[in-house]
Amino acid sequence: MARIDLHLHTRFSDGSLTPGEVVALAHQAGVTALAITDHDIVDGIPQAMEAAAKPGIEVIPGVELSSRFHERELHVLGYFFDWQDSTFRDHLAQQRRSRHVRNPQTIERLNALGLELSEEEVNAKAGSGSIGRPHVAQVLVDKGYVQDTREAFNRYLKEGAPAYVPRTLPDTRNVITWIRNAGGVPVLAHPAWTRCEGEPLYRLCACLKEAGLLGLEVFYSSHNRKQTSRYLELAKRLDLLVTGGSDFHGAANPTIQVGRGKGNLKVPDTLLEPLRQAASEICKETGRKSPNLLH
Ligand SMILES: [Zn+2]
Ligand SMILES: [Zn+2]
Repeated sequence: MARIDLHLHTRFSDGSLTPGEVVALAHQAGVTALAITDHDIVDGIPQAMEAAAKPGIEVIPGVELSSRFHERELHVLGYFFDWQDSTFRDHLAQQRRSRHVRNPQTIERLNALGLELSEEEVNAKAGSGSIGRPHVAQVLVDKGYVQDTREAFNRYLKEGAPAYVPRTLPDTRNVITWIRNAGGVPVLAHPAWTRCEGEPLYRLCACLKEAGLLGLEVFYSSHNRKQTSRYLELAKRLDLLVTGGSDFHGAANPTIQVGRGKGNLKVPDTLLEPLRQAASEICKETGRKSPNLLH
């Protein structure tokens, strides 16, 4: 059985490699289909498609969106949507703008705490990609205020720390609707991040399913075997599609490899057809072209 990887980041968000470089690594790892799921942006998709044509790897349009559901930050992955849909792209642009509003406020708070750093220094760290807390953390390390980025997060930047600025996030149910309206399949990313298990997680997923959620990211680099089998069971119980991916970021997290996660990840290619089928049904509902006819 061949392997696929439906959760990959590139330089277009917080990954360190270009889409072409990620595709090359996927090819080396024996991946037959992949999705670039950058945060709030779809601009890496055409480059990945171009690079994947020669080795014959299928590129599925993908994205990852942050959202909030009853005080919890949840990430939603979207697959097989029309990535050129202008309404969907407007939503993404709005999400990227909300990040830009947050950074100056974080810097102001750090300045008020007596740490000297400027927006220019943070922007210089980020280059051309989307700018976020990891870049602020890096500047704090460079200036010797903290030993490493972990300390920067723990002392200043994580939720509840003195320089933490909550980001305005859309309701998860809205994000699900945006993806479906663009003809895509919404999937809850890395359920371990929800920090709930058992019945509370069941109820959370059931609520989201009612709002249109169609899948659960069961196979994931940091899920252990027990978690994987529990999430598989949960997906079965709620009749949700099963997906999986590495959440590869490149240099930002060198322990995770494309297609193989921390070494023992294998997302089977048999998960792809049910996902494609679900997208076809959404396309019928919304009067769009079938995903197989896109590109
Ligand atoms: Zn995520
Ligand atoms: Zn991710």
